[in-house]
Amino acid sequence: MAVIDRAGLGAAALADLRAMFPVLAQTVNGAPLAYLDNAATTQMPLPVLDAMRHFELHDRANIHRGVHTLSQRATDAFDHARQGLKRFVGAGAAHELVFTSGTTDALNLVAHGLSTPGAAPVVIQPGDEIIVSLLEHHANLVPWQQAARRCGARLLILRPDARGRLQPEDLAGLLTPRTRVFAVTACANATGERPPYETLLALAAGAGALTVLDAAQSVAHAMPDLSALDCDFMAFSGHKMLGPMGTGVLVGRRAALERLQPLRYGGDMVARVSATEASFAELPMRLEGGTPHVAGAVGLAAAASFIEAAGRGRIDAHVSALRSHAAAGLAALPGVTVLAAGAGASGIVSFAAEGAHPHDIGTLLDEQGIAVRTGHHCAQPLLDHLGLGPTTRASFALYNTHEEVERLLAGVARALRLLR
Ligand code: PLP
Repeated sequence: MAVIDRAGLGAAALADLRAMFPVLAQTVNGAPLAYLDNAATTQMPLPVLDAMRHFELHDRANIHRGVHTLSQRATDAFDHARQGLKRFVGAGAAHELVFTSGTTDALNLVAHGLSTPGAAPVVIQPGDEIIVSLLEHHANLVPWQQAARRCGARLLILRPDARGRLQPEDLAGLLTPRTRVFAVTACANATGERPPYETLLALAAGAGALTVLDAAQSVAHAMPDLSALDCDFMAFSGHKMLGPMGTGVLVGRRAALERLQPLRYGGDMVARVSATEASFAELPMRLEGGTPHVAGAVGLAAAASFIEAAGRGRIDAHVSALRSHAAAGLAALPGVTVLAAGAGASGIVSFAAEGAHPHDIGTLLDEQGIAVRTGHHCAQPLLDHLGLGPTTRASFALYNTHEEVERLLAGVARALRLLR
């Protein structure tokens, strides 16, 4: 992308880039918006909006079922989006990609699909074991709790150390011949910690487990190709990677996806139906029952192209510089603890402040047009483990600036003065 120069994101390049995100150019509570809630949802650039608008204005029709031109165009657009996203994650010939409504939907599809009777044998049996790390968003924990309960399996937790880091030797100590599934995040949304997931996945796969990677916070950043990972299932959301809300992906090894019972039965996922029986379509349609969000898939693929054109390496260099700037400034404030202080590989900085509730800090920042997230970040067990309670979280994307970090630091310092 022309606006991002080779050296990174210079001031002029950043101004051009920000112009592609019209939502950023507004004032909130009388101040310029500083949108620092990107781990929750990122904003969409004009090329993504344009791709979706083009589809809706010219090609909108239902897919797969029509012989008419618009239906064929819509089907082509959907398939094209699938191929583009497979390339984006580095999927190989042995992989398939299923569209979902987001990470939560994708992870439920996996947990449900391995633990529910239906068209294929149930994978998780009574007495089997499922291992989940404690770094997880509830979306990669609660579905496994339910799956374990449904199957009479044991749920084992891979706990981080006191600083919130996962250790491969702890996983090695949990793996047994009964381990059916190991699920882990590629980046903890509550702390910004990036676990050594390549090693963890390899260990679990070596022990014969199916492996699940929650890439919601990582897929827009530099990551190994999926085909280089010991990963059976990977999930991510469109709205966290500059794409539309209500879109997401489950991508994985075809052989593993084939072991999932569908979550939704109905149109588009069947081969042949009689009044009392049905046989099911091949992947990926088998797992995509009902009319999908076709414009969303088109937008998601456009977001992937936007990120690729910008360069994940350059985006990461920029975002981790913002994170380091914010983490150092916050840690220098009295009574402030930055979680995963050394985690340089993400754009997430989460902190607790003595004598000031995150909700009050967030409200005072919003008065100055600064948008952050406060609370448990859907990762309550992790924050309980770290003994810190709710936190305030700022999270950066490619369009954020060091000036916004300065405003955040000044805004937190002001909030602490007012609240203490
Ligand atoms: N996993 C992680 C690591 C997340 O950060 C989130 C959202 O914050 C989710 C899963 C759930 O994503 P969604 O709400 O898009 O399904």
